[in-house]
Amino acid sequence: MSKVAFPADSSVVAEVRPSPNHGERKGVERPDMIVLHYTGMADPRAALERLCSPGREVSAHYFVFEDGQIVQLVPEGRRAWHAGAAIWAGETDINSRSIGIEIANPGHDYGYPDFPKRQIAAVTALCRAILTRNTIQPQRVLGHSDVAPARKQDPGEKFPWRLLHESGVGHWVKPAPVTSGGRVLSLGDGGDAVITFQELLAEYGYGVTVNGNYDSAMHDVVAAFQRHFRPARIDGVADQSTQTTLRDLLAARGRVRTISNRSRSFEYVAGP
Ligand SMILES: [Zn+2]
Repeated sequence: MSKVAFPADSSVVAEVRPSPNHGERKGVERPDMIVLHYTGMADPRAALERLCSPGREVSAHYFVFEDGQIVQLVPEGRRAWHAGAAIWAGETDINSRSIGIEIANPGHDYGYPDFPKRQIAAVTALCRAILTRNTIQPQRVLGHSDVAPARKQDPGEKFPWRLLHESGVGHWVKPAPVTSGGRVLSLGDGGDAVITFQELLAEYGYGVTVNGNYDSAMHDVVAAFQRHFRPARIDGVADQSTQTTLRDLLAARGRVRTISNRSRSFEYVAGP
């Protein structure tokens, strides 16, 4: 496919740089998920180049530089190739369902620096714009690690999910504090308590097999959960804080929350 320019889907896009790496969305009219990534390369320009290279078979809809500049690579209506083998809420063709955003950050292999504020502001604005055009539930704004926990760590525990949530993007609750004590589940454990916890993770959307075995796959899922929702300690151990945070998320999930609702609550808080 040739690199035909296309109109940007969003006014926050500074530049369109067409990638040839995309296809038809399969079985879905419009995306209903956003998946956030970090580039995991030392040089962001090289990362962008890679996502636009024919034959690489990788791409994303959007790329956000450290300074907040946003580049669009693939039209939202098309299926970009960013998630790979993945699963969420029982669905495995995450690329067909999602909009992929690559956030320039060298990642864990290169020191994993903090995400600059300007970059986070840009990611937030981009997501808000996407949410105005697409019906995407808050709990379907996810990290790559959420949908591919055995393979991926991005965007990682430094990604400020709370800040996005405060701007009306994604699902988040204040994590329960890490304390000692309580029933702790970890690698090698089994039985009914493990089944219950697996059922809760699966109910939230994680791709766990409910088999009563706290195996390495389960360990990876819990670590992914912690990276997103309880970043104070990422050890793959289902301590009380991890279990409580998951229950709190599930309890908060049904609440309808839109950007306009959020704006109203801000006005209320800031009112005279
Ligand atoms: Zn990724």
